Order: sequence, then C-alpha cells, then structure tokens
Amino acid sequence: MSEARKPVIASVWLAGCSGCHMSLLDIDERLLTVLEKGSIAATPITDFKLGSFPQCDVGLVEGSVTNTDNIKFLEELRAKSTYLVSFGDCAGWGCVPFMRNFFPLQEVLEHGYIWSSSTVDGHIPDDEELPTFLDVVEPIRKFVKVDFHIPGCPPSADTIFYVVNELLEGRMPAGIPQPLLHFD
Ligand code: SF4
Repeated sequence: MSEARKPVIASVWLAGCSGCHMSLLDIDERLLTVLEKGSIAATPITDFKLGSFPQCDVGLVEGSVTNTDNIKFLEELRAKSTYLVSFGDCAGWGCVPFMRNFFPLQEVLEHGYIWSSSTVDGHIPDDEELPTFLDVVEPIRKFVKVDFHIPGCPPSADTIFYVVNELLEGRMPAGIPQPLLHFD
C-alpha cells in the first residue's frame, strides 16, 4: 500500500443480520486506530446505501448471497478491492439465510409475504419491487475470489481488528482461514 495516502476500507452488508457489522463496531476505541491508519469510504455504518464503491485496499463483506442485488454489490466490491475479506458465517458458508435452502423458494416467499401476515397487502413482490431472488442462498466465494475469511456468528471483534490492522499495516494476517479460489 502506498505511503502517500491512507489505505481505504469499504464494507457491504448482503444477506445478514448486521451482527457482523456490530462486531466491527465492537472493536470500540480501536476504531480510532483504524481511522488513524486508514479511511472508511463506504459502509453501512456511515449510511452508505446506493452508489458505487471507491477503489479500496480492504473490502469487508457481511452476509450471504440471496438475490441479484447481492451479486451486483459483491462483484463491484471485489473488482475494486485489493483484498476482499468475508467476515461472519453467513458470508463464509451461508449460516442463517442458508436455512431457506431446505424449502422451495416459492414456499419461503409465500410464508414471508402472505402466511405470516407481515405485509400490508399480502402479495409477493415482483422483480420490479425487489431484486430477483436466487433459487438457493450461496456463500460469497461461490461468486468471487475471497482473500481472507473471518469465521464466527458473529465473528469476534478482536479477530476483525487483527485482520484489518494487519492489512492496513501492509502485513498478511496469519492464522486466518484463506479460502481457495472458487469452489464448485
Ligand atoms: S454471521 Fe451471524 S452475526 Fe453475521 S450476519 Fe450472519 S447471522 Fe448475523
């Protein structure tokens, strides 16, 4: 990483509960260390919702892939990140969102939007209202190369800080699972 500028961090929240980002915040005062060494350019923590990611040194991904918007954001962050880090079991293997894979997608949608009466008009949104759902939930490494994975549900704040700090310092984190390239 260049010494002329601060390394840039970005993060995205796909199909997850936000607990991984809560663990990121749980590094507490060490956030100041991260901000001394780098800058956080785009993240749900700063209310980033739309737009595109900047070129960044460290891209953090929470959550699994369950719809076409997830793929779009994931592929863009991968393309713009020197190192892509999946954090949390949803990103790593599917975890809680993966449980919908035991049921047909249509049944899951009917349960969520009709039977559970959680909607105002009881209809399943179409593709113009929501991103298109994939038939099955997948971990992120099904779609992109992942450089480092931090396991856990949620992942520990200490491990998140360790990985981010090492990368900001230009060192490779040791002892963290490094997934192979795409798996089938
Ligand atoms: S890994 Fe756990 S804490 Fe993180 S998004 Fe998934 S369910 Fe939430």
